[in-house]
Amino acid sequence: MILIKNGRVINPKNNIDEKMDILIEKNIIICIEKNIELNDSIDIIDAKNCIVAPGLIDVHVHFRDPGFTYKEDIQSGSKAAARGGFTTVVCMANTSPVVDNEQTLRFIEKEAEKSIINVMQTATITKKLKGKELVDMKHLKECGAVGFSDDGIPIMDCDILLKAMKLAKKLDVPLSLHEEDPSLVINPGINHGKISQALGLEGTLKEAEEVMVARDCMLAISTKAKVNFQHISSGNTVDIIRFGKKMGGNITAEVTPHHFSITEESVISHKSYAKMNPPLRTENDRLKLIQGLKDDTIEIIATDHAPHSKEEKERGLLNSPSGIIGLETALSLGITNLVSKNYISLIKLLEKMTINPARLYNLHKGSLHKGAIADIVIFDPKEEWVVDDFYSKSANTPFVGQKLIGKVKYTICNGKIVYEDNINPQK
Ligand SMILES: [Zn+2]
Repeated sequence: MILIKNGRVINPKNNIDEKMDILIEKNIIICIEKNIELNDSIDIIDAKNCIVAPGLIDVHVHFRDPGFTYKEDIQSGSKAAARGGFTTVVCMANTSPVVDNEQTLRFIEKEAEKSIINVMQTATITKKLKGKELVDMKHLKECGAVGFSDDGIPIMDCDILLKAMKLAKKLDVPLSLHEEDPSLVINPGINHGKISQALGLEGTLKEAEEVMVARDCMLAISTKAKVNFQHISSGNTVDIIRFGKKMGGNITAEVTPHHFSITEESVISHKSYAKMNPPLRTENDRLKLIQGLKDDTIEIIATDHAPHSKEEKERGLLNSPSGIIGLETALSLGITNLVSKNYISLIKLLEKMTINPARLYNLHKGSLHKGAIADIVIFDPKEEWVVDDFYSKSANTPFVGQKLIGKVKYTICNGKIVYEDNINPQK
């Protein structure tokens, strides 16, 4: 048994924010009450000055397994997740081979069984990510795929996507879309604007995202399928999504910690470590994304954790792959750049990192209540720390050396302590 004492319990699902204790037996929360006193010899975690919340859920990670395990694998990615307070992640399907078939999906599920956290998997929408032919969505759902995404590659063929949405509606599964029209992407991962101009480059127009989100909002409205726009970056996109929802679309949107924290200016100082798809945009875009978080146009914060090796990232701005890691800094970036700046409350931040992502993928997780599986994060919302090392196999992030607020102290998954601060890591 584990007893978590003296913490401030925040459970966004039922709007609870008060001092309570939590008792865990085996892997289940058996009691949440004020002042639980027990005489038995049990493990006690003193959560004084800490927040006790549902384990965080990240619905957008790349664990690179199978195929690119020199960047990350399911076990190393899980350790990075646990350190960041995450107890559940949803992996994208652009592995090698891609997850468009039962065999690859089963391989990942087997690896996931060994993980210290809950690792869920999406399948692709189209075979080999080619955008031409749909996968067998019904069968892959039956095999355990929690949703479908061609993340990394936009689906240009409207008819294919329309068919996918109709099927997704019937199967009650989400479709998650990476929206960038390639004809408006000259150099990926860098915003087309004053910074790209200063560097003498053509970048990626923000319209690349906006036009596709506009198109797919209309398909979402007509099909009523659950459509999720991944890692949105442009301020206009927020307006389009707000409109799509108003028109009755069953639409959700994700934003990454980096898109609400920093802008295209970071490309000057951090070069390829600030290169990702879609790119960092302007301050005006960043503020509109934050407005979207405030008014719940954007319900989900997801990292797009995208590990790459040092060698790959040091190939120069144009030749290096896009993407940065995010699991170990996400919560702190949210506290530092959203909560501490008074844009949103802590409970709202946690809502976007627990129950909202759970709802999108129909996961029965993201809430603390009697009888629930004990997936819990305990963090100090005031402690400051400097980003320096990682449990991830990769270290590609522009946030190295930054002082952040909010530090994870314990992560408990399925009733077990899977991360404890200040304990030497078993990487
Ligand atoms: Zn993507």
